[in-house]
Amino acid sequence: MREDLLNEAESELALLRARNEREEFRRREQIAREQPEIYALVQEREALIFDTLRKFLKGPAESKDLPQKMDMLSAAIRDKLQKKGFPADYLAPVYRCPICQDTGRVGDPVREPCVCLKKAYQQKLREKIGLGNQQPETFERFDLSIFPNEKAPGQIFSQRDLMTVIRDDCKAWADSYPKQQSRDILLSGKSGLGKTFLLHAMAERLIERDVNVLIISAYMMLDLLRRSYFDHEESPSDLLDTDVLMIDDLGSEPLIQNVTIEQLFNLLNERQNRGRSTVISTNLNLVEFRQRYTERVASRLTDSRNCMLIALTGKDIRKKT
Ligand SMILES: [Zn+2]
Repeated sequence: MREDLLNEAESELALLRARNEREEFRRREQIAREQPEIYALVQEREALIFDTLRKFLKGPAESKDLPQKMDMLSAAIRDKLQKKGFPADYLAPVYRCPICQDTGRVGDPVREPCVCLKKAYQQKLREKIGLGNQQPETFERFDLSIFPNEKAPGQIFSQRDLMTVIRDDCKAWADSYPKQQSRDILLSGKSGLGKTFLLHAMAERLIERDVNVLIISAYMMLDLLRRSYFDHEESPSDLLDTDVLMIDDLGSEPLIQNVTIEQLFNLLNERQNRGRSTVISTNLNLVEFRQRYTERVASRLTDSRNCMLIALTGKDIRKKT
């Protein structure tokens, strides 16, 4: 998990807890003001707890009937609240998450992040990498019916058949990470064949599985790399350290002689040395890819022992015919 985003999510929970406390206080004050009879019971219940505690601190004390007395008082409070038109639990602790009561942690003695904290963290990560504002593009929402099912003369598979296999391969890769068969993926094919959707669906699945993912357009990434190159700095650590780096639309960025290719090579090389996975989508086919990025870079990405090569073919599904 990314420390910065986890801290953000935990700070928000701390704010929520403070808000809960204020709300509890407000309700208590309201009952004290408007329902003195109920408030007397609340005070009686509190006095009972403190008295027992005091006796207990002085030495061995009998408190056998305490739970029973507490239950009776609590039942009376709930009953009277309801009769006066309040919810029965109006004076109970206020929280949003019934599992952790908004502490964000569960388990004893090991305090694991609660589901609610994980969800908040995942949403922050989604927003950070540009998935936050859209309908989630997930494998479940991947609509195969938009791909033509007819086969061209001489072809064994339809575009839909091909996409079914590709979708399943990408899903299996994300599901089995970090034990997947190939470390990297190169998704190639012209625009409008579904590459970005596949990239996003893999990212959603990985985030769900607590994997640290970064999606970045090739344009943005090379801009970052170039800046660090000209400032004689190391590559940004996000690019090097993220478990899975997804580079969208490689080939669309401007090439700067001796810089782009060198920077890209260094990044891929360094990530491979660290055992990190890289997923790239590109409009170029393999021949064009080699021509643009040289054999040296291409060999880092097209070695089928480390990289799953996926070539999408067919009709642009965004064009209505
Ligand atoms: Zn929780």
